[in-house]
Amino acid sequence: MIPKIDLHRHLDGNIRIQTILELADRNAIVLPANDVEGLRPHVTITTPHPGLVSFLGKFRWPMAVLATPEDCGRVAYENVEDAKSERLDYVELRFSPWFMAAAHRLDPAAVVEAVADGIARGVKEFGVQVGLIGILSRTFGAAVCFQELEALLTFRETLSGLDLAGDEAGFPARMFKRHFQIARDAGLRITAHAGEAAGAESIRDAIKILGATRIGHGVRAMDDPALMDELAEGGIGIECCLTSNVQTSTIPSYAAHPLRVFLERGLLATINTDDPGISNITLDHEFEIAAPQAGLTPAHLTQAKANAAQIAWGL
Ligand SMILES: [Zn+2]
Repeated sequence: MIPKIDLHRHLDGNIRIQTILELADRNAIVLPANDVEGLRPHVTITTPHPGLVSFLGKFRWPMAVLATPEDCGRVAYENVEDAKSERLDYVELRFSPWFMAAAHRLDPAAVVEAVADGIARGVKEFGVQVGLIGILSRTFGAAVCFQELEALLTFRETLSGLDLAGDEAGFPARMFKRHFQIARDAGLRITAHAGEAAGAESIRDAIKILGATRIGHGVRAMDDPALMDELAEGGIGIECCLTSNVQTSTIPSYAAHPLRVFLERGLLATINTDDPGISNITLDHEFEIAAPQAGLTPAHLTQAKANAAQIAWGL
């Protein structure tokens, strides 16, 4: 039996609507609605092709209610509980401490500590295996990312790896070469969002400049057969997120997604959720609804699951 695994899940993109309501109430934050159904269209995707700007806009209220490090810890804990509810055997949860700290100017190191503590409590309570990945939010710039990295490395022992996320086109990998050198020297493994909002060259840069052994999304590799061969030969893991890519208009439809091509060319491609709370999905949705629409057969699904077990950092 191949374990059920999600390798690309942002815990700050997976906050329960009920929790947003409760935290807003406790922290005296006025939301655009005061019940689950009223708030839902403000914090989740409710139309098929909203586009990137609308997608990112859904993070406003979930981030606005994080007024203390303990709130961040609660979100982390509940992510482990949700993984249990989805019957995941193993999940890699990622988060950007700066992004979570921003609305209320929290101490990023306190956010990292609270998130790590929430994960540890969740693992103990729910028995799901969890790997924790720190994110540098490139959109804040290189200087802030050094501070974000410092906060993460203060709790180095709680982390499996480091990721680079945010505005891929405006903040290329070369701006973060030194950050990732430091992270690799500290023994962290590297993944990076690449080939989502920028082209195939961004994927090559993530591998060569940042030392990534896995790539988040990697969609644009579809434009470059030589790169697909390099990814297959190099054993680079590809963390595909089907519904996220459709919702952000990275691709026009499930049918246009390259995941099937990746699998057939021997890339270590996998199926993941990205921001399940924002996208209003589960991993089961991705396997049972999204993947068949992307042209995947049961044999493809089995291969994707086996790939996830192979490239997981904590198994
Ligand atoms: Zn992502």
